[in-house]
Amino acid sequence: MSFKDPKQFTEDFMSYVKDRNPGEPEFHQAVLGVIETLADFLVKNPRYIQSKVLERMVEPERVIQFRVPWTDDGGNIHINRGYRVEMNSAIGPYKGGLRFHPTVNLNIFKFLAFEQVLKNSLTSLPMGGGKGGSDFDPKGKSDNEVMRFCQSFMTELSRHIGPDTDIPAGDIGVGGREIGFMYGQYKRLRNEFTGVLTGKGIGWGGSLMRPEATGYGTVYFAEEMLKTRGDSIKGKTVTISGSGNVAQFAVEKVLDLGGKPVSMSDSNGTIYDPDGIDREKLEFIKLLKNVYRGRIYEYAEKYNVQYFENRRPWSIKCDVALPCATQNEISGDDAEALLKNGCIAVVEGANMPSTYEAEHKFLNAKILYAPGKAANAGGVAVSGLEMSQNSMRLSWTSEEVDEKLKSIMTNIHAMCVKHGKENGGFVNYVKGANVAGFVKVANAMMAQGL
Ligand code: GLU
Repeated sequence: MSFKDPKQFTEDFMSYVKDRNPGEPEFHQAVLGVIETLADFLVKNPRYIQSKVLERMVEPERVIQFRVPWTDDGGNIHINRGYRVEMNSAIGPYKGGLRFHPTVNLNIFKFLAFEQVLKNSLTSLPMGGGKGGSDFDPKGKSDNEVMRFCQSFMTELSRHIGPDTDIPAGDIGVGGREIGFMYGQYKRLRNEFTGVLTGKGIGWGGSLMRPEATGYGTVYFAEEMLKTRGDSIKGKTVTISGSGNVAQFAVEKVLDLGGKPVSMSDSNGTIYDPDGIDREKLEFIKLLKNVYRGRIYEYAEKYNVQYFENRRPWSIKCDVALPCATQNEISGDDAEALLKNGCIAVVEGANMPSTYEAEHKFLNAKILYAPGKAANAGGVAVSGLEMSQNSMRLSWTSEEVDEKLKSIMTNIHAMCVKHGKENGGFVNYVKGANVAGFVKVANAMMAQGL
C-alpha cells in the first residue's frame, strides 16, 4: 500500500476491502467515504498505516448471526434472521441500534456498525460501536406478533450482550414498543434489572429526552453550521424526509427555532405543505405514526395538501434539507435539484442518506453539508447519558439532559471545524468528522496492542 500518495492509498485500500467483502456495496461506500477523506492525514501520519489500524477497523471484532423463529396470530411459523455486528470496543462497550426492516442484510449492518464506531467516538462518551437487527418487517403486524418476534430475537441475543459488553438501542423499525418487549425478555432470562438496552420507557430506566435527542441534535447541529455563516434556522424553509422518530423531533426543533418545515415522507411518498407543518399538524403526525401506525398520505387527505406518490422531497424548493429517512435516499440527481433550487445546507439526520455522487456534489458546491455520523450523533449521545444514569441509579431532568445534548453537539461541531477547515475557510464536515472520530479510536487500538 502506498505510504506517500493519498489517492493511491485510497485505491489500494479499497481494493483490499472489496476483495475481502465481496457483494457489500453499502459497506464499501461507507468505508470509501471515510478513507478518501482520511488519506491525506494518514500519509502525513504513517504510523497509522504501518500499524494496519485501518485494516483492523474494517474487520468486525465479532459477527453474530442467528435464527429467529416465531408464530403469527394465525399460528403460522415464520423464520427470520437476526444479526449483531460487534465492530469495535477500543473506547467502550459496543453500542448502537437494532434495525428491523425486510431489506437488511449483513452488508447493511456492517456499514452501519462502521459508521457507528466513528459517530460514538465523536460524542466524547466512552462507547464502542455495533449494530444489529433483523429482516423482520414490523409493518402490518399486530402488537402480539411484534412481541413474540421480539421475545424470540432477544432469547438468542441476550447471551451476547450485557450492560458492560454490548448495549443495543432502537433504529428503523425499533421504537419504544420493541425496546419494551426485548427488555422484558432479557429481564426474564437473566433475572437482572440493568441498563442493557437504551431507549427504555421513562418509568423503567429510560432517559428523558432520548426520544427527542436525534432530531433535536440534528437541528442543533444545523444551527451551529449556519452560525458559521452568520445565519440561523429562523425564517428558513426546511424540507424533511421520513416521518418516524428522527423526522418528528427534527420538525419540532425547527419550529422551536422559528423555521418552516414543509415536507415529510414515508416509503410510499411525500407530503408537501407550503404553509408549513405547524405544532397541531405535527401532533397529528405523531398520533398517526406512533399510535395508529398509519401512512403519511393521510396527512395530505386531512390537510388537503399535495402528495407525491413514490417520490422524495428533494425537488421541493428549500433553504435547508434534513434527510431523516434512510441510506442513499438522496441521489446525484436529487442533489443537483437541491442545489439548483438554492439549498444552502444539507444536514443528515439519517445514516448515510446521501449517495457517493450526492455527497460529492454538495462538497464541490461548498454548501454547508454535514454527514450523519456528526449531525445525528445526538441520539446515541443521549443513549450514553441513559447508560450513565442507569449506572448511577438516578435520573436527570429534561433540562439537564437537553443542556448536555446541546453541549455535545456544539463540541462535535467544533471538532469538525478544527479537523475539517480547508484553505480559504471552507469547512469540510465529512473530513472533520472522519479525522476526529478516527484518531481517538485508532490511538486507543494502538495503545491496547494487537
Ligand atoms: N440508531 C441510532 C444511531 O444510528 C442510535 C443508537 C443508540 O442509541 O445506541 O445512532
